[in-house]
Amino acid sequence: MTVSDFAELGLAERLLRALKDAQYDTPTPIQQRAIPLLLDGQDLLGIAQTGTGKTAAFTLPLLQNLDEDGLKAMPRSPRALILAPTRELALQISASIKTYGRHLHMRQAVVMGGVAQRPQIEAARRGIDILVATPGRLLDLMNQRHVDLGRCKYLIIDEADRMFDMGFIRDVRKIVATLPKERQTLLFSATMPAEVSRLAGEILNNPKRVEIVAKSVAVERVEQRVYHLSAPAKRDLLGQLLKAPDLTKVIVFTRTKHGADNVVKRLSRDGVSAEAIHGNKSQNARQRALENFRRGRSRVLVATDIAARGLDVDDITHVINYELPNEPESYVHRIGRTARAGAAGVAISFCDASERSQLRSIERLIKASLKVIGDAPVGPVPSSAKKGKGAERPSAPGANKWRRRSRRVDRRAA
Ligand code: AMP
Repeated sequence: MTVSDFAELGLAERLLRALKDAQYDTPTPIQQRAIPLLLDGQDLLGIAQTGTGKTAAFTLPLLQNLDEDGLKAMPRSPRALILAPTRELALQISASIKTYGRHLHMRQAVVMGGVAQRPQIEAARRGIDILVATPGRLLDLMNQRHVDLGRCKYLIIDEADRMFDMGFIRDVRKIVATLPKERQTLLFSATMPAEVSRLAGEILNNPKRVEIVAKSVAVERVEQRVYHLSAPAKRDLLGQLLKAPDLTKVIVFTRTKHGADNVVKRLSRDGVSAEAIHGNKSQNARQRALENFRRGRSRVLVATDIAARGLDVDDITHVINYELPNEPESYVHRIGRTARAGAAGVAISFCDASERSQLRSIERLIKASLKVIGDAPVGPVPSSAKKGKGAERPSAPGANKWRRRSRRVDRRAA
C-alpha cells in the first residue's frame, strides 16, 4: 500500500502532503472506514480506543470540510468543537490538528482547566475555526460569554465513556444543547456502556457505526504475561525487571495516586529515572513529566488510569500493571499504550492474591489467558490480602479449582 491509499479515501492534496510529511503511508482500518463517511457529511459513532489512529480519522475530514466551507474565523464563535475528557488528550488532539493542518490556514485553540484563562479568552476573541476543549473550562467561558457555539457546525466528542467515568456528562449535555441542530456530530468511545449509547442516541443523527475491536489491539500484538506474587514482593520484582536493558520506555500503572508516588520514590532510590502523573499533580507538572518521558529523559512513567487515558507516546516498550485495575476494560486501555501503530509491545501484570478475581475478569473480557511467568498461585494467601475482594484461600472450598485452573493457564501459554 502507498500514500495514494489516503488519496483514494478522498482527501485533498494539502492534507496528503501533510501525511507524507508525517510519514504515514497506509491508512489504519478506522481511517479507511471513517474518512469517506465523514467527508460525505455523515454522523458517526466510532467505537475505538487510542492507538487505532482515530484522531487522524476525525481530524483529517474535519479540516477538509472546514476548508471547503470557506468561512472565516470569527471572534468567540468557533466553527468546530472537539470535546476531550482530559487535558493531555486535548493537547494531543491539538498537536494532531497542527500536524495534519500544516498546509491549511485553520485557527485553533485549546480551552482547558488547570492553566490561566486569560490566553484562552484572548485566543477566542481573535477568532477560532477549531476549538479543542475539556468540558468544565469550556462551560465557564461560555457562561462568561467568551465563547458562543451558535455557529458551530461540527461537534466531535472523544472518549465518551471516560466523560462519564469522570462525571462530565452533565456538562457535555449542557454544551451540546447550545449548538445548532443542523451539524455533523461524531462520538468516539472505547467501550459502549448503556449511558454512552443513550447519549449517542440523543445527539447523533442517523449515524454510521464504525467499530474497531479492542481485542485486536489487546490480544494480537501485545505479548501479555502475568506474575503471581504477594503484594510486598511487587516492589522487588519491579526493580529486578527494570534491570533488563530492553525495557527502555516503560509505563507502570498503579490504582491510586498515593501508590504512584510510592513507586516513583522507590525507583528513584534505586537510581531509575521515573516520574508520576496523576490527578493531584498540577497541569504543568503533568506536562513536564510527560515531555521528559516522551523525550527519553525519564525511563519510567508511573500513572493512574485516568491520568494515562489517551496518552500518545510513541515507542513504549513495556506496560507494567503494578496493580490490576478494578475494571477489566482499563486493562485493555492500559496495554494499548504499547504496540501503537503496528509496533509490538509487552504487557506485564503483577497479580497478588487479592487481585485474582480482577485477573479472571480481564481474561474473560479479552477471551484469552495471560501467560503465567514463574509460579502459579498455589501458596498460602498473604494475610494482608485475605480481606481483599475475591481473594481465594487454598484452604477454602474451591481452592483446588484455582490450582486446576492455573495448570490450564500454564498449558495454554506454553
Ligand atoms: P491515535 O489512535 O489517534 O491516538 O493514534 C495513535 C498513533 O498512531 C499516533 O501516534 C499517530 O500519530 C499514529 N498514526 C495514526 N495514523 C497513522 C497512520 N496511518 N500511519 C502511521 N501512524 C499513524
